[in-house]
Amino acid sequence: MSHHWGYGAHNGPERWHEDFPIAKGKRQSPVDIDTKAAAHDPSLKPLCVGYERATSRRILNNGHSFNVEFDDSQDKAVLAGGPLQGTYRLIQFHFHWGSSDGQGSEHTVNKKKYAAELHLVHWNTKYKDFKEAVQKPDGLAVLGVFLKIGDANPGLQKVTDALDSIKTKGKSADFPNFDPCGLLPCSLDFWTYPGSLTTPPLLECVTWLVLREPITVSREQMLKFRKLNFNAEGEAEQLMVDNWRPAQPLHCRQVKASFR
Ligand SMILES: [Zn+2]
Repeated sequence: MSHHWGYGAHNGPERWHEDFPIAKGKRQSPVDIDTKAAAHDPSLKPLCVGYERATSRRILNNGHSFNVEFDDSQDKAVLAGGPLQGTYRLIQFHFHWGSSDGQGSEHTVNKKKYAAELHLVHWNTKYKDFKEAVQKPDGLAVLGVFLKIGDANPGLQKVTDALDSIKTKGKSADFPNFDPCGLLPCSLDFWTYPGSLTTPPLLECVTWLVLREPITVSREQMLKFRKLNFNAEGEAEQLMVDNWRPAQPLHCRQVKASFR
């Protein structure tokens, strides 16, 4: 690989295995969710999303996506229930999106791609911190939410309005008082399976929880995502689009559904 991973032709997902051999592992993400094959698991508990005291801090363009970061020094915003044992703490959320409305999500449903996918990243509080958790098979729980084109999402407006100030890699801005509850659909019905980070180092540490019901995003909101840059300020402009990894083989894993 040339110098660093990315989403371009020369350093994109099809070449990540050169530096990260786990890219060809047996527990990689994302995957296609075949809704007929995803069996209802009556032993799954309801998801318990406790975001009331979430404390957002900052929004950062990291050159692959942008992260909205949270204070994870206490149990302020937590996820539990479903297939999870114990409590997982929200550390950040980010999105993956396309160059056009017909692609952008990482997970697919019966091969259908959505325009974008939100990932709310949580780490297991039985470990010391995020860094330790990513080394463990039960270290992370990522809540995935699909975005489909429709009405403007008021819960997304503060995010899209902040993007002008973090156009290029390395830029960040204060981003206090953001309520991540506004990014969730009505129903918390989910599919779940064991998987990985979808960006290098692709560690196989994630319990995935992918919500069945998408949220909406307007065309105009989506256009604001696509004005971001992969590059740093002063470098040749490369629009931040198509920052998604395609579906990986399921191997012997089963996707389970929380609903009938
Ligand atoms: Zn992600």
